[in-house]
Amino acid sequence: MRTHLALIEDDPDFALMCRSYLERAGFTVTWAIDARAGKAVMHEGGIDLAVLDLGLPDGSGLDLLRALRSISRLPVIVVTGRGEEADRVAGLEIGADDYLVKPFSQRELVARIRAVLRRSQPPESTEILAVGALRVDTAARRADVAGALLTLRPKEYALLELLARAPGRVFSSEQLLEQIWGVSWQQPATVVEHVYRLRGKLTGLPTPAPRITTVRGYG
Ligand code: CA
Repeated sequence: MRTHLALIEDDPDFALMCRSYLERAGFTVTWAIDARAGKAVMHEGGIDLAVLDLGLPDGSGLDLLRALRSISRLPVIVVTGRGEEADRVAGLEIGADDYLVKPFSQRELVARIRAVLRRSQPPESTEILAVGALRVDTAARRADVAGALLTLRPKEYALLELLARAPGRVFSSEQLLEQIWGVSWQQPATVVEHVYRLRGKLTGLPTPAPRITTVRGYG
């Protein structure tokens, strides 16, 4: 399958040039001309990486990146004009994977995209984690308890896999936020809610599953 890129860029000449170059390099490209269209493209899903110009006519690309980072770890390369160092730094702090300063060569863009994609790829594995009656299939991203498949949302699965990798270990909610959401500035309540829901799914099964316990005042 071809890698699908979102190109969020308001300068049509530049965007069309990038798109044709990237398509020739073997990528599928969806171009969005402003932040609103960019948001819509991200919402549709199926995007593997976003190239995001921070200077957009209808709001800062930084806001778009911030909104995106609160729900996903999709690889993002931010693009800024010369002299917009503050934006670049803010972009990296919010969680951009790399940045490019205009003008840049198309070859460099492709090289950066490939490098970011390589870094973000999880190592190939068919690892099965087993904790008591719980089995977590990390390749299929599925978990079952004594053969009874659990219905998990993506974040619940990620949480379960993380906990199953280190049975007995205590995680703080900040650590869980950092590792699963990729951010530490989100509300710890998000973690509490996910742990609560996951715990609910692990109880009331015919075969008892390992328990998730809370260490008061820490994790
Ligand atoms: Ca722009």
